[in-house]
Amino acid sequence: MADCLFCKIRDGAIPSKRLAESANAFAFRDIAPQAPTHVLIVPRKHLVSLAEAGAEDGALLGEMHLLAQKIANDEGLTNGYRTVLNTGRDGGQTVFHLHLHLLGGRHLAWPPG
Ligand code: AMP
Repeated sequence: MADCLFCKIRDGAIPSKRLAESANAFAFRDIAPQAPTHVLIVPRKHLVSLAEAGAEDGALLGEMHLLAQKIANDEGLTNGYRTVLNTGRDGGQTVFHLHLHLLGGRHLAWPPG
């Protein structure tokens, strides 16, 4: 989609620290990391948020989580990690192309802010 930051990163028009990919998703390091490991897992397909996902996206959402698991293993996050999907403005979403955050490498408090 034109004018979408993560579509531009997908297409290489904006640089990113690319880590891994799967058939339908790709992953890169967050530009403003909130933990020693902070990676974004993004579907190649432009989906605005979880709120817009449909039954046809079920396998894609699973694939994104399994890619997060692989990266967590590769990063050596043996003590655990957190995956987060921010949805909409109240959910804290700022980039409106669905993405899964993978955070780890330190203790993460709960509840989040
Ligand atoms: P969210 O607030 O859930 O929509 O997350 C958007 C994330 O994208 C934030 O954690 C930002 O730091 C991150 N971000 C914004 N621009 C870039 C960029 N050019 N490269 C990597 N991460 C980015």
